[in-house]
Amino acid sequence: MNLVLLGPPGAGKGTQAEILRDRLSLEHLSTGDILRSEMKKETELGKKAKEYVESGKLVPDKIIVGMIAERLANISPDKKGFLLDGFPRTVAQAEELDKILDDMGKKLDAVLYLRVSWEVVKERLTGRLICRGCGAIYHKKNKPPKKDMVCDICGEELYQRSDDNEIVIKNRFDVYNEQTAPLIEYYKERSLLKEINSEVSAEDTYTQIISVLGL
Ligand code: ADP
Ligand code: ZN
Repeated sequence: MNLVLLGPPGAGKGTQAEILRDRLSLEHLSTGDILRSEMKKETELGKKAKEYVESGKLVPDKIIVGMIAERLANISPDKKGFLLDGFPRTVAQAEELDKILDDMGKKLDAVLYLRVSWEVVKERLTGRLICRGCGAIYHKKNKPPKKDMVCDICGEELYQRSDDNEIVIKNRFDVYNEQTAPLIEYYKERSLLKEINSEVSAEDTYTQIISVLGL
């Protein structure tokens, strides 16, 4: 099964991706995670991406498409498919993805559109805390860790993403509306779009996903 997770920042793509990856044995490809890891390692790619990511702008399509194409070509054969999270993010990226998959003799099975309002996005992202060790996601108010800034699961330190501040969050949301939201129509026309209400809990969002996928 080959899936795309579509939705604004804070829609819960990362959270659902982790559950789906384990449950369906899929390769999870998150362009945001890949970029942050390249930035941390200070690679050429990371250096090029840094100013875009930190201001909430999109990294140029050319850089992103190359990065994803390489990873799609290297998915281990024991995976049952892939799960794209944060890609495609522009119509141009979606068209490139269609070409890449065509060349590989693969296709998408569904695009899960996680729908959520600006109010919910703002509330979720300004309070979001992430574990440096295992990547678990907490929320200052809604899901605080038992011990301040320490992960319940692995005991590592929690941090706030540098682009999770109110100004950059607003910027990311505007960029989403302008450049990514047109993909809703793009995938609707191709009969791939499955709309999910993502303003509810992670468990209830997951239940809807399983149901629309017929699992
Ligand atoms: P979110 O969806 O919460 O904004 P991501 O982790 O998906 O966060 O992305 C963080 C940043 O990485 C984006 O604001 C953007 O700068 C960059 N980025 C991620 N994916 C893409 C993409 N497909 N195209 C262009 N830029 C991207
Ligand atoms: Zn942890």
